[in-house]
Amino acid sequence: MSVSILKINAAGRAIEWVSWQAAVGLHARNLVSWTYGEEVMAVKGGYCRQTGLQSKLTLNSIIACRGKVVDPGRSHPPLTNQALFRRDQNVCLYCGLFCPDAELSRDHVKPLSRGGLDCWTNVVSACRRCNTRKGNTEIEALGVQLLALPYMPNHAEYLALSHSGRILGDQMQFLKRQFPSQSRLLPENQHTLRNRRINPRLPG
Ligand SMILES: [Zn+2]
Repeated sequence: MSVSILKINAAGRAIEWVSWQAAVGLHARNLVSWTYGEEVMAVKGGYCRQTGLQSKLTLNSIIACRGKVVDPGRSHPPLTNQALFRRDQNVCLYCGLFCPDAELSRDHVKPLSRGGLDCWTNVVSACRRCNTRKGNTEIEALGVQLLALPYMPNHAEYLALSHSGRILGDQMQFLKRQFPSQSRLLPENQHTLRNRRINPRLPG
């Protein structure tokens, strides 16, 4: 079963996705303070010697864990292609073409060879054709615009973007409350990038 449990800290900040096996381990070590959200599965454990009864643990979709409260917002979320492509709605930000992950690449708006950084605010999803054509040129020199400006997601947005399976409704609701108000992942701020072709073709 591929269900993921959202682990949060004692202050209620979303921390990470954990497998159900890891969640069982946290319960077993008595590290779970409280649980929230729907019950996602019931796990049977060992038999009690005295009573002969089998233990049963019900796992909820969100678990709050004890321990030192470290604010996840203090560190930058890792830059991965999967989360980057999700941020950009799997759309090439140069030509508006929708592409599966395998046909997208990470393009550095200010090329690395010109001092650009490999960071969230300098990278966009690009189809291979646009990436090749852009090469090591800066976009100002090409006279093209980006369909959307690159940004760094906050930690809750990153958790939503980096999850590879289905996020349960109550987990998503929980994460959304920790998105910034102007988050592009919120339906009210979301603009469809697909097929918004402002640069039909990069010069090549
Ligand atoms: Zn393109």
